Amino acid sequence: MLEQLPLPIRAELDLNALRYNVGQIRDRAGDAALMAVVKADAYGHGVEHVVPVLQEQGVTAFGVANVPEAVRLRAIGVTEPILVFGNPLPKYLPAYAEHSLDTTVASGDVAEAVLAFPAPLRVHVKIDTGMHRLGLSPADAPRLISRLAAAAHVEVAGIWTHLATADEEDLSFARQQIERLDEVLRGMDTTAAIHIANSGAIAQLPEAMRSRALVRPGGLLYGLPSSQQVARAFATQPVLRLVSRVTHVQTVASGESTSYGRRWVAQRPTRLGTVAAGYADGLPRQLSNRGEAVVRGRAYRIAGSVCMDMLMLDLGTPDGPGGDILPGDEVVLIGLGGPSALEVADAGGTITYALTSGITARVPRIVVRG
Ligand SMILES: *Cc1c(COP(=O)(O)O)cnc(C)c1O
Repeated sequence: MLEQLPLPIRAELDLNALRYNVGQIRDRAGDAALMAVVKADAYGHGVEHVVPVLQEQGVTAFGVANVPEAVRLRAIGVTEPILVFGNPLPKYLPAYAEHSLDTTVASGDVAEAVLAFPAPLRVHVKIDTGMHRLGLSPADAPRLISRLAAAAHVEVAGIWTHLATADEEDLSFARQQIERLDEVLRGMDTTAAIHIANSGAIAQLPEAMRSRALVRPGGLLYGLPSSQQVARAFATQPVLRLVSRVTHVQTVASGESTSYGRRWVAQRPTRLGTVAAGYADGLPRQLSNRGEAVVRGRAYRIAGSVCMDMLMLDLGTPDGPGGDILPGDEVVLIGLGGPSALEVADAGGTITYALTSGITARVPRIVVRG
């Protein structure tokens, strides 16, 4: 019964767009292989939809944030290497071994725990070149890497760093970070895969990819530029489209208000369209009175506060173009035919990654193409 009804709010996935984006990344990355970053349930898109397409497109490794995410990938049939980006607490190491997960070594403590571990482990050593989030200091790294490489039960599969500003216009600090990594690697005799590039670097920094074994794209896979800069430097297609429906239409008199706090007041008789979408679906509340959505090909401003489950659109005067909008009409909140994720993120004071990874579990992900 429920299956036959039009869904109120849904996230539509275009998997052909995902294929297109993988192809674009591959072209830009040259000889480097793709470690597809699918943390946060593939940036909110749903790993069960995204991962099989990535595998079919020849992605040979995956990156996630933590062990439970990696175990979930194993549960849906991922046999490729999975690197967990977070620095493990030593007591988690048995889980890495049990599920054949690649371990990030990003502190001296973890290096010692790995050296003392009684079973084989594959590790990627992370160097802190200036982000100061995780990583061995460049001064300590060579000594620890050679100790790890010398241990019979440890395979040093990768050496990597992460850039703080690769999606910005000023790339000088990113270049300095790359230089610091190269300084550590100079004179080191290693077969480990070197990797640096996130989406920003893939778009803007060829030196982060040249003669490196791997790149680690996340956002670009999904057609999500993290900044205007990246959007200009690298064309992708959005994979996700967030759509809902108008559930009620009314005309309010001049001086009437809508929603909590009465933060929008009609300046003239105004049609209001109530839409089944709110912050509990993942729309930032900061879109109140700022964001826009598209109905019947025309953009309308959000009127008043975004509620938990609903928002109102200012459809204009009853005799204006919005006068034809009716309950049941589709509303494009994010994506093709509506505002881009970048536009919505800007209006909501956030970034595209936070926007899609914030789409909540009650919103069904539906594959519409591919
Ligand atoms: C999230 C993440 C990435 C992917 O970043 P994008 O900007 O989405 O490409 C790459 N590497 C690490 C360590 C990450 O945490």
